[in-house]
Formats: sequence, structure tokens, C-alpha cells
Amino acid sequence: MSTINIAIDGPAGAGKSTIAKTVSAEMGYIYVDTGALYRAVALYITENNIPDSDIGESLRHADISLKFIDGVQRVYSGDRDVSELIRTPEISMAASRTSAIPAVREYLFGLQQKIARENNVIMDGRDIGTVVLPNADVKIYLTASPEERADRRYRELAEKGDCPPYEDILKDIIQRDYQDMHRETAPLKQAEDAVLVDSTNLTLEQVVKKITEIIREKI
Ligand code: C5P
Repeated sequence: MSTINIAIDGPAGAGKSTIAKTVSAEMGYIYVDTGALYRAVALYITENNIPDSDIGESLRHADISLKFIDGVQRVYSGDRDVSELIRTPEISMAASRTSAIPAVREYLFGLQQKIARENNVIMDGRDIGTVVLPNADVKIYLTASPEERADRRYRELAEKGDCPPYEDILKDIIQRDYQDMHRETAPLKQAEDAVLVDSTNLTLEQVVKKITEIIREKI
């Protein structure tokens, strides 16, 4: 029996992970955050000071994997759970840079396809509908204005009490969008058959409702 695959792509901070987590829990699907894989590779490259020219070769010795514990994704580098370590602004930027390197994308490509072949998944990322799962049952492109995304991120960080200035957050978002959209290999773009959802003026509940409706209609 083939599995059901739902792809959600879009820029940083559009709300992909929050939405995908909620919808996958409702549907009993596994939520796969592929950004965590790129972040774990970026951490590996940074910690081991690997120059760009050696990345392809050194990834042969890397052992990045995902585990799902009670349906919740954890990302591992070897035996080490790096799920929290990869959530810094430095690793966000490093991941955006190193994810443009074809050897990095090749390394993670098969892993993502295998998970989708073996499980019903909602997979979020940048190139899921275009490259990783071109035959996904449902494709959604979730976006919002850069200002709205920066504002959401600002409020989220302010709640935790550790907040850079809004302008810095906005600048990072714009830079990451640019890098992700303009790289040669698997750039961020809407797949031709993806449904566009702009969450700029919608609440979280409204976006969840909309995406659930789109999925129900298709499967
Ligand atoms: O989604 P997240 O912000 O955690 O992703 C971190 C970085 O990983 C992105 O800025 C992007 O460059 C890269 N990425 C990618 N392809 C994916 C998922 C993430 O290139 N499918």
C-alpha cells in the first residue's frame, strides 16, 4: 500500500512547522521538519570546521538521522541528539548557506524520500513539492509578508525574554529568503501544482482550517 504524502513549502517564518504539527496530529500522520536536517548538517560542518571544498567527502562520515518518539521528531548527529542545539540564529544562517551546496542536498535527498515512502507524512521545507516529493498527494505553498513573519518571530522571542531588535530579525529573514530563492540547486519556489496560502492576514486557527480543507478535498 502506498503512503500519503503532503508537502508544505514556503519561506522562513511563514508558520509551516506550527501548522504542519497541528494538522499532522489531527490526521495521525508523521510531521517531518526537513529544515532540521539542513540545520544538523550545518552544525556538523561548523563544529568540524569543514571547508566547502571538502563537504561532499566529509558527509560520507556524517550520520544525520531522524527519530520519531511518540510522533515527535528528534534529529541526531551520530548518537547525539542535536534537536535543541540547531535552533540558534547562527545555525539558521549557516544552514541557509550550506543548503545551497549540491553535495549537502544530495546527502539528504534519499533520507527524506525514504521516510515519505514508509510513512504517511506532512513534510515541510523549501523543495519538497518541487524536488523531493514531486508526486506528493497534496502540495501547499505557505507564505506571508516578510514584515509579518519578522513580527511573529519577534513576539515569539520577546515572550521567551531573549529578543534581538525587530530590524535585525527582519534583515535575517530577507537575507534567508533571498539566499533560499536564488540558489541554483532546488531553490525555494511554488510548485506549479501547489495551492498558495498567504497567511499574512490570517490567524493560526484560520490557516489550520484552510489547510485542513485543502487536504480533505484532495484525499
Ligand atoms: O525551515 P528552517 O528555517 O529550519 O530551514 C533552515 C534552512 O535550511 C533554510 O533557510 C533553507 O536554506 C534550508 N532548507 C532547504 N530545504 C529544505 C528545508 C530547509 O534548503 N527542504
